[in-house]
Amino acid sequence: MDNGENHLSEHGVKPTSNRILVWKALAAQQRPVSLSELEEILETLDKSSIFRALTLFLEHHLVHAFEDGEGVIKYEGCPDPDHCGIHDLHVHFYCEHCRKTYCFPAAPIPQSTLPEGFTAHSINYMIKGICEDCQKASR
Ligand SMILES: [Zn+2]
Ligand SMILES: [Zn+2]
Ligand SMILES: [Zn+2]
Repeated sequence: MDNGENHLSEHGVKPTSNRILVWKALAAQQRPVSLSELEEILETLDKSSIFRALTLFLEHHLVHAFEDGEGVIKYEGCPDPDHCGIHDLHVHFYCEHCRKTYCFPAAPIPQSTLPEGFTAHSINYMIKGICEDCQKASR
């Protein structure tokens, strides 16, 4: 995921300099980030350019987007766009104190059995609570 340019073109996205910047900023994060957080990281790009790049990445399944439980969309790079399926999704944790979203890649999403005729395309599994850092800080 470190060579942004190749990663983008291999997955059908023309690697313009803006798109590479957005991709690299996203890939460098250890956790899912919102559009405003990306805007802060990418001081040289405006919100609409970042949003356009993210929308394109989504269309090509280069990123995952989900609602963080407080109405904010968070984005994360897809670890494996070629083989990504519902079984590769992991649990997320939303800290009600610092409002950060954490990835728990070692915790797969529990699968539920759907009624016949229903097909799942994505699952948003979000646990809310207080993160490690905030718990330490409050002690
Ligand atoms: Zn994926
Ligand atoms: Zn926290
Ligand atoms: Zn994640």
